[in-house]
Amino acid sequence: SALFYVSPLEHDEAEGEMIVMIRDRTEQRQLERMRTDFIANAGHELRTPLASLLGFIETLQGHAKDDPDARAHFLKIMQAQTERMQRLVRDLVSLSALELNERRLPEDDVDLCEIAAVVREMMAPVAERANGEIVPGPSNCSIRMIGDRDQLIQVAQNLIDNALKYGATGSTDRARVHVTVGSGPDHAFEAASSSGDSPDQIAVRAGCAPSDLVYIRVRDEGGGIARTDLPRLTERFYRTDVDKSHPQGGTGLGLAIVKHIVGRHRGGILVESAQGEGAAFTCYFPPRPGPESDLPAGH
Ligand code: ADP
Repeated sequence: SALFYVSPLEHDEAEGEMIVMIRDRTEQRQLERMRTDFIANAGHELRTPLASLLGFIETLQGHAKDDPDARAHFLKIMQAQTERMQRLVRDLVSLSALELNERRLPEDDVDLCEIAAVVREMMAPVAERANGEIVPGPSNCSIRMIGDRDQLIQVAQNLIDNALKYGATGSTDRARVHVTVGSGPDHAFEAASSSGDSPDQIAVRAGCAPSDLVYIRVRDEGGGIARTDLPRLTERFYRTDVDKSHPQGGTGLGLAIVKHIVGRHRGGILVESAQGEGAAFTCYFPPRPGPESDLPAGH
């Protein structure tokens, strides 16, 4: 329900009229609500690892003091937890920086194909450490849009990070990650469950034809995503049970950051998953107005 408030009345003496301003406060209240939820969640996410760190420190000062094996074991857990908090703080800072820059709209003339090439190269060492691989792709095509280059790189990085983390195939235990770009609506799998925005919806919002949309997609060949998780993935702090049991525990903020950035670019994300075949995250954007992109779909 909309809540209205009447701002202080302004009296226009010259005209002898009163100006009454009525504003819809629903949106403002929702934003405030989101902000307090966000802070509460962030606090909770930090409090848990901190409490456990404190517990381990006490253990190390107590009975584990003279047991080298126990000491090494506890230190390892403490290191993993500290690293997780570090990621959490990094993601929180990214999100709030994004919100601060809200007013500055993306304005660079960027080429998604070049971004894909740069990110494949940047993420190669991460892939190696994760015992995964990023499949090579073309670097001499051109898919142009107006965007913020650094933010689009971050989108691709977050998606690749996830694909490496969650996309390992059952048989080889290695993740194979595909980063592709193209234009027009295009399915990642023959038969898949999906959630998020359909290209048609995205095109309506962006004010262009679906066939004009451009996209960057990150696909893996892992186990895919459970149907029940699909619609909630981009919520802040949402982590699936698979993630919670993962030693490299995530923050649940990676996809929220992706969604935020894609939204700022008037785009949308389509998440597709085919059981046992993998997951694909496709970020669609309106094209750069002007000359056509010179690459057909699916490259
Ligand atoms: P996190 O920091 O926990 O990875 P994200 O917001 O990036 O947070 O992802 C949210 C959840 O989505 C993760 O907990 C993970 O379970 C799931 N997820 C993300 N990417 C994939 C993928 N490629 N395959 C399977 N599950 C995924």
